[in-house]
Amino acid sequence: MRRHAAVPLLALLAVLLATSTAIAAPAAEPRTIRVQIEEGVVAALDEKLGVALEVVPRRGEGLYSFAKRVCGDGRFATQIAELNGGSQELTAGMRYRVPFMILSKDWQLKTVKALFAKDRPEADGWRHEARGLGPLQRESLWRLSEWFTGTGENFRAIREYNELTDDDVARGTAVTIPSELLLPAFRAVLPVPETPFSLEYGVDKDGEFAIYRLRPGEALYSSVVVRFTGRVFAADVNALAGDIAARSGIRDVTDIPIGYRVKVPFDVLQPEFLPEGHAKRKEYEESLRASAQFSNQVRVRGLSGITVILDAGHGGPDVGASMGGVWESLHVYDISIRVKRLLENQTAARVHVTTRDGAEFRVHDADVLPFSRSHQLLTTPPYDLADAKVGVNLRWYLANSVFRRAVKAESDPQKVVFLSIHADSLHPSLRGAMAYIPAAELRGESYGKSGPVYTARKEVAESPRVSFPYQDRVKSEGLSRELAKQMIAAFQGGGLLVHPFKPVRDKIIRDGGAWVPAVLRYNSVPAKMLLEVCNLANDQDRKLIQTRAYRQKVAEAIVSGLLAYYGEDLTPGDGSVVAGR
Ligand SMILES: [Zn+2]
Repeated sequence: MRRHAAVPLLALLAVLLATSTAIAAPAAEPRTIRVQIEEGVVAALDEKLGVALEVVPRRGEGLYSFAKRVCGDGRFATQIAELNGGSQELTAGMRYRVPFMILSKDWQLKTVKALFAKDRPEADGWRHEARGLGPLQRESLWRLSEWFTGTGENFRAIREYNELTDDDVARGTAVTIPSELLLPAFRAVLPVPETPFSLEYGVDKDGEFAIYRLRPGEALYSSVVVRFTGRVFAADVNALAGDIAARSGIRDVTDIPIGYRVKVPFDVLQPEFLPEGHAKRKEYEESLRASAQFSNQVRVRGLSGITVILDAGHGGPDVGASMGGVWESLHVYDISIRVKRLLENQTAARVHVTTRDGAEFRVHDADVLPFSRSHQLLTTPPYDLADAKVGVNLRWYLANSVFRRAVKAESDPQKVVFLSIHADSLHPSLRGAMAYIPAAELRGESYGKSGPVYTARKEVAESPRVSFPYQDRVKSEGLSRELAKQMIAAFQGGGLLVHPFKPVRDKIIRDGGAWVPAVLRYNSVPAKMLLEVCNLANDQDRKLIQTRAYRQKVAEAIVSGLLAYYGEDLTPGDGSVVAGR
């Protein structure tokens, strides 16, 4: 409530100062400024009443149509009448005062443009030049906040963003109202920025850094650490947030002023955020260009001739991430079986799944899934997944075996895709899907496992070692990125959330290291990805995955993504699948 006192106190002060005539006050503007916008419509700025439109009714115009014309909604008729003497009949020739807040978006914009001719929309917000009324010729941030954001309460955010020290500004001062706070009328006319954020760069005795200015509603964790350093695991995010806060002189990470200059050291910055021309950024861009030369040339109807290898993460004794009694293994298995069912019912794809729970593939028509640790990996002979690491290695041996057979039959490696389905356990602020693909640089030339658990299996005996010439790895990165982008787009098209920053990643960054998940690293299928459908550490995501409706939607999005990768159009909006047979 104290904030509300700011305006009247200021006004009082103004009166006191104005009456002590000893002060050489600048030539005072009148207490009300009026600017005609068109015949019968005048924008008014009044020292006490604020901004309004003064409108003369048109000939024969009723109160309702008048309200509709000026406010965009006839329901403001009563309010307009009350503010202008109470009569329900409009008086010809009379000027009706309509407060700024109930004006239509169109009139709000026209009114502000008329009164503040130097105002203009910019990429980061509305740039307002204070006009100031009365003897002091100052404008209070509270008032300004009311005009542009609909409430005075945002005055502090505006003050912080503009690094101002006072609660009011002198005539001629430029104040930017950040886009996030603006009324729709103003936000709608902002130019679309080239990049969704801007970075500056600096250097001090501790080294080079990028500077990011926090915007309204942003937190250090998600908006800086996750976005610019690629960290997503809670321990990493929290530790690095602490380091960055210390480096930036932030004492309390929960109360950082808007517009604060946060310093992100170059050594933790993802390469795409380094300055243009920086060696590491150039190297990164070069690797993107190299892999982007390869794109999927196969175009088919209804996945005809396509082999889809579906791998549900974990299973058996390895339950994967376990949060609040929700096991990753059960839910991703259910999704993969739903994908299998959709593919088999609606497309011509050949489907191979790597694991099975029980004697047959069964979709449970229930939200809550029965606990089970009896998944087996379908190698020959099957593996009970007693050791998760062995399980992962046998998955790629199995996938490679399916791939070899499919290529023999179809003779086109690009007609096989590998998809491993998982659910994340990340920093709880994150939500939605994320895709991992293999970075060419982080995969070895050749690899193989030895030991009885491996050699006992047909898939290993067939081909104990895998090798990947560099060019194959680059090609695989390109095709996989294309597949992952289609998959993420299908999630968005199906109304499912995806990771807000960089939903397609070519490596896992964790504990100070970076690597490609093993199931992709040694996998011979050129187009492959590991899909994290949501973040189990986020309460809302965890609730969602416990509903069959969500799991079915995810399965539908996956099928849509596969169809799109092979050149088929999707029905927009509803996430449903169209497939030619
Ligand atoms: Zn997993």
